[in-house]
Amino acid sequence: MNTAECSNTINNSTINSNDDLDIIGKGDQRYNNYFQNYNSRIHREPVCYIRPTDVHQLTETLQYAQSINKGVSIRSGGHSATVYSVLDDTVNIDLSGFNQIHSFDPVCKTVVAQTGVSWKQFYTFTTAHSLAVPAGGCPSVCGGLSLAGGSNFLAPTFGYTVDSILEMTVLLANGSIVTCNDTVNQDLFWALRGAGHGGYGVVVDIKYQLYDMPPLLYFNTIELDYESSFEENLRRLVDYSKTMDTNIHLSLDVRKLYDRKSATTGGLHDPVLMKITFFYFGPPSEGETHCTALYNTLVNAKVKSLAASDCSKTFLQISLLGPDPDLIRRSYTKSRITHSSNFTTAAIADIKRVFSAFPPTSDHMTKKDPLTNFSFSMYYHGGQMNKYASDFNSYYHRHDDWAFTFIVTYLESANDALFSQWKDNVTSILDDFGPFIYQNYPDNEDPNWEYAYYGANYPRLQEIKLKYDPNNYFNYPQSIRINHNK
Ligand SMILES: Cc1cc2nc3c(=O)[nH]c(=O)nc-3n(C[C@H](O)[C@H](O)[C@H](O)COP(=O)(O)OP(=O)(O)OC[C@H]3O[C@@H](n4cnc5c(N)ncnc54)[C@H](O)[C@@H]3O)c2cc1C
Repeated sequence: MNTAECSNTINNSTINSNDDLDIIGKGDQRYNNYFQNYNSRIHREPVCYIRPTDVHQLTETLQYAQSINKGVSIRSGGHSATVYSVLDDTVNIDLSGFNQIHSFDPVCKTVVAQTGVSWKQFYTFTTAHSLAVPAGGCPSVCGGLSLAGGSNFLAPTFGYTVDSILEMTVLLANGSIVTCNDTVNQDLFWALRGAGHGGYGVVVDIKYQLYDMPPLLYFNTIELDYESSFEENLRRLVDYSKTMDTNIHLSLDVRKLYDRKSATTGGLHDPVLMKITFFYFGPPSEGETHCTALYNTLVNAKVKSLAASDCSKTFLQISLLGPDPDLIRRSYTKSRITHSSNFTTAAIADIKRVFSAFPPTSDHMTKKDPLTNFSFSMYYHGGQMNKYASDFNSYYHRHDDWAFTFIVTYLESANDALFSQWKDNVTSILDDFGPFIYQNYPDNEDPNWEYAYYGANYPRLQEIKLKYDPNNYFNYPQSIRINHNK
């Protein structure tokens, strides 16, 4: 079937064969603006978009896709760096209509959220009851995060999001809706907590264990000087993390923003910004003590205040501080999850070398792009995130304690080649940090992605895939492959 036939089929079926579903095919005027990929460098053309709002419609959507011999792609928040949530030639299931939070149990401290619920919506609900679960640091990210790890400020204290999942409801390729937990469909439950985006079915909702949130927590940022002390401060930060209190979360953000006013005319750029974000889960007075200890180990550091009275915030306030860009940009992302021992002097020098290898001024760009933003970000992944063995659920990376991402975001397609070179430069040093990739930051160029995401858990994931999706209906370039020889 060619594209034109597809869109005819879809438009006809909207009218003739499926009154219940609003099928937005290529002939529909809403199609082109229906969804902007989070990474607009990657263009995708599904055969249609469908936004089911209940389980009946979701099942019908799957039946509809199968009736026209198409696969599906599944989108919750749509933040996937590789845009695996919207795929060519598929019926795209838009889960933004699955936005209900229900079955809240204040005694057992549990709640069920559909996978289209954003973390902003989720935390607004749970913090009203002084409760939360570790999840994402970006307010508009949704349930896709919970399927592949999930780490934010609370994770060193309570573990990954996947570790707080008690039950999931899933639509399988055969049209059945199944529950999985520790006693029912345990194998599927194991697989979905780490590889839930890997092609087992459409996860409808998730039951989470919640934790008590104190009224105020300690949150601070420390500014550093990139040019004079990047290497020394990165080393000191990693050293501090090796022995720090398990209720501390750290991140490091290094960012080069081209000057918004002058870049269009080829002007000078701002200095590189470098800052540490420090979070403490516990009384703010204790946070002040810990943050002061870190501050005292750093060189050329600046802080507005270390005092608990200036650095106390509610968890909701802190969780809404995460990045939520208002503009959809083009981007390249490269990342690793690694062990602190890999931040050797040589490896840290490599990070600075490749990060600095961007155009020194906007004059070097093929087209001036005032919204270009290079970042190198490190996130602590230790503490209770590593309390379980690597086969406790399918989330494998239990030995590593830091993850980092290099990201360039920009607007002009004319600069793709230039920034692709920068990305290749970055790729050339990644082996310093081992083979592993946190699967919530997928890399569509990594030839060893199976091992990079899932390590030794991959063969078991393949067996479970064969059991629940024997015809490999839910598939895409990095979905779990069926091993027919087993
Ligand atoms: C600005 C930003 C901030 C971020 N911050 C954090 C952070 O603090 N911590 C962290 O751990 N990660 C973070 N991430 C990474 C994030 O976890 C992933 O991008 C995640 O995939 C986003 O979830 P989503 O629902 O928006 O994704 P989507 O793009 O909708 O989905 C991601 C993948 O999951 C699949 N999928 C989605 N929903 C379902 C479903 N219901 N059933 C089956 N498969 C499904 C999709 O098909 C796709 O393959 C961040 C990403 C961005 C862009």
